[in-house]
Amino acid sequence: MAFAYDDTNIFARILRGEIPCNTVAENDHALAFRDIAPKAPVHVLVIPKGKYVSFDDFAANASDAEIAGFHRLCAQVVRAEGLGLDGGNAGFRAITNAGPHGVQEVPHYHLHIMGGRVMGPMVF
Ligand code: C5P
Repeated sequence: MAFAYDDTNIFARILRGEIPCNTVAENDHALAFRDIAPKAPVHVLVIPKGKYVSFDDFAANASDAEIAGFHRLCAQVVRAEGLGLDGGNAGFRAITNAGPHGVQEVPHYHLHIMGGRVMGPMVF
């Protein structure tokens, strides 16, 4: 199966309450928490509560309600963290890594929302 989900991954364990996280916000479909090793002054991860491996799995297979709930929570985080352009703030970077070429470490879809400094060019 293309998107076989590993129930033992660390974000699955966070969702089950087996290990703690620093929660920022939550709704029926998604959870936002601070990255344990932040790469910017603000570094929040947003994850769906459903079992999706990657962006392409989520985008293809999640319900409309899950997709809406996930993105509404992202918008809530951006606003609450003082990053949103609609609040006259300086903006942010939102990225996701998928699979070996994306250097994805945790096989549960997550969006990194990073801000609080100029993020620099997309050069690796
Ligand atoms: O996109 P990628 O899978 O590489 O990123 C995983 C992220 O999850 C890392 O930034 C890492 O610091 C974070 N992480 C976390 N809490 C954990 C384990 C990993 O915030 N318990």
